[in-house]
Amino acid sequence: MFCKWGPSHPKNRQGLRRRRGDAPAYQDGWVSGEDLGSARAEGSARASWASSAGTAKSMRSNRGRDTKPEIAVRRLLHARGFRFRVDFAPVQGLRRRADIVFTRQKLAVFIDGCFWHGCPDHYSAPGANARFWREKRDANVRRDRQTDALMIDAGWTVLRAWEHEDASAVVSRVASAYLQLTTRPAP
Ligand SMILES: [Zn+2]
Repeated sequence: MFCKWGPSHPKNRQGLRRRRGDAPAYQDGWVSGEDLGSARAEGSARASWASSAGTAKSMRSNRGRDTKPEIAVRRLLHARGFRFRVDFAPVQGLRRRADIVFTRQKLAVFIDGCFWHGCPDHYSAPGANARFWREKRDANVRRDRQTDALMIDAGWTVLRAWEHEDASAVVSRVASAYLQLTTRPAP
């Protein structure tokens, strides 16, 4: 229900924008494979390559945080009594942020955007600059796997969901992971 299908899909025309207006310049952040800083870095992109207003809008709507699916998951978790950090870098010295973080349980949750993170069901490269977008997607996926490995090495549990997944199903997965980590006997 939440899925963003890619920049060319009509859904994105009224999609998940949070800025008004049709300014072609893309000012919000996006995930860069080369960016060793925050995965949610902002302001790093300028949009000469935003080939259409639709693409620019989609990029705005595909920001790394505060997307509708993520907010829905957060609300449900909160309603169930869970407390957590949002958009937080859980591992000290590692500049990688997770969307939802349970510090005590060492549980890091990511709600991955179907477009940016290459959802197998919904990703399709936009017609214009397809190669650029594929490379961008590939870089993001590589970075995601690297983030997983680094966090796991640091003793964290990583749980990833796609934004197209039903929020209550995601919450169930988070809750059961949380429970497992909570009931784990002390080392
Ligand atoms: Zn998807």
